[in-house]
Amino acid sequence: MNKPNKVIPCPNGHGETRATKAKKTMTFRGVDITYQTEHYLCPVCGIEVGSIEQASITQRAISDAYRKTVGLLTSEEIREGRKRLDLTQDDLAQHMCVGIASIKRWEGGIIQTKSMDHALRRALQGQAANDGYSGNRKFSIPRLRLILREFEASLQRKIMKDDKGLYSAKYVWYADMVAYRELGQSMSGATYACLPFGPQLNNYRDLIDEIKKTDANSAEPLTSEEKKIISRIALRFPKDQMVIDASHREVIVQRKPIGSIIPYSDAAELTGL
Ligand SMILES: [Zn+2]
Repeated sequence: MNKPNKVIPCPNGHGETRATKAKKTMTFRGVDITYQTEHYLCPVCGIEVGSIEQASITQRAISDAYRKTVGLLTSEEIREGRKRLDLTQDDLAQHMCVGIASIKRWEGGIIQTKSMDHALRRALQGQAANDGYSGNRKFSIPRLRLILREFEASLQRKIMKDDKGLYSAKYVWYADMVAYRELGQSMSGATYACLPFGPQLNNYRDLIDEIKKTDANSAEPLTSEEKKIISRIALRFPKDQMVIDASHREVIVQRKPIGSIIPYSDAAELTGL
């Protein structure tokens, strides 16, 4: 790839080092992999030094070698697939109902989960995210924020403050599921996964910052039916712990393996509301 032309001197005082390519092997996440590195080598003492840029290239080479070995799309495959469809990172994020941060991370060398890999392959084959996972609505982060704001008005307290685990997502989950069941369309278009602590926005870690930054006023306003659903949920679960406990008890959550997506069609079996 791009060869840095800055010469790094040997830290042991032997003068200039030489740019070198090497094949290396290692065990990564329990898998034996072979990858290519670029670094500078001192011909006198044999020490290897690298620039920060080379270090990040090496990180990605390790990640890609691992992904290739276990059958996940590599950074390059994701980027090329996206370009082939003439999609920006933001377009692809929209198609997949994930935040743009996820796309950037995967293309940058962070390893996607198996289920996200499956979603990536679908999206890169030109298929939009399954409607069953977005509840017949295009995913909207501003609308997610608007829903949270409506909950805060109903509950008369802040629910997003320092919410690193995004526990307030349980409220939105109920809002989305009940709206789908009763109105035929989710409110936010978000996709939810079963996590050890109950239903959660898929890839929520990447979404938290985007939710906090977004402008709720740019979202499609909530209808009166949607507002009624939100106030019903707020009335039923006035405390965070109540909505957390209720969502854990839902059969549609209990029966699913950890990490799997909760389809909106399961909304028919909700018991908490
Ligand atoms: Zn040296």
